[in-house]
Amino acid sequence: MDLKDIKTQELVKKYNFKFSKSLGQNFLVDDSVLNDIVSGAEVNNDDFIIEIGPGVGTLTAQLLMKAKKVTSIELDNDLIPILQQELGENKNFDLIHKDALKVDFNELIGEEKSVKLVANLPYYVTTPIIVKLLKDGYNFKSLTIMIQKEVAERMNAEPDCKDYGSLSVLVQYYCNTSIIRRVPPTCFIPRPKVESIVIRLDRLDEPRVKTKDISFMFDLVRAGFNMRRKTLWNAAKTLHVNKEKLEDAFKRSGIDPKRRAETLSLEEFGLLADSLYDIKL
Ligand code: SAM
Repeated sequence: MDLKDIKTQELVKKYNFKFSKSLGQNFLVDDSVLNDIVSGAEVNNDDFIIEIGPGVGTLTAQLLMKAKKVTSIELDNDLIPILQQELGENKNFDLIHKDALKVDFNELIGEEKSVKLVANLPYYVTTPIIVKLLKDGYNFKSLTIMIQKEVAERMNAEPDCKDYGSLSVLVQYYCNTSIIRRVPPTCFIPRPKVESIVIRLDRLDEPRVKTKDISFMFDLVRAGFNMRRKTLWNAAKTLHVNKEKLEDAFKRSGIDPKRRAETLSLEEFGLLADSLYDIKL
């Protein structure tokens, strides 16, 4: 089929496709959203695009018209023959039948330079997928993803705002974030119960702060946000550090131990983590 003619409703009908709620299947039916995702990702003919969850291939078709190469990863058995039938003739298309959480993206990326992830993600696995894509250090230039509105707002949140938490710190440690657009439930079949947002994460050349031990800094971040109402002093006490030297470590970092995690910038988390790291047991 001509890529321009790939339409969600028609393919769902043609193959009598039955949606699976447990696989987070809400397919896009709005052309303006498809256009905004592709233009928001600035897809061009140098790009190797990795797509997670192609569904019946509506977004994939748009990507194939613009990119050098598209590899889509789909878990649902029933979608594989549909995608092969509708898109298999395109020489720049590859399909991987696998759980995205089990994919070795380094192997997939190989020597490719301009690698962008573009996806309307299944919402039930958004956070584990993003954590994997960021923490495993893959060579992505950007991730342009449609996700649940609340999760996007957490990724994009700044200190002192109610949405600011561990996910904001993790994402902003590795990336600049920008919201591309909101998407109402009416743009999908079946309609999800929640609103969505298309957000773009541009990977920084270097993480935003330098820290002595990244996993220790994230231990501190987690301890801080696990006890949101408690002070940093109380959060720091839960870490494996010399409690007698705690006061000293806070003094050296210049951070008031009575503050709460939600008030700390990434740079301040870095400073405090490094001071506490020096008194680690
Ligand atoms: N891209 C299509 C669109 O925009 O219309 C479909 C998006 S739908 C929200 C999510 C897609 O992810 C579905 O096709 C679903 O089968 C697939 N999926 C769910 N869990 C997955 C996983 N763990 N790995 C890969 N694909 C998955």
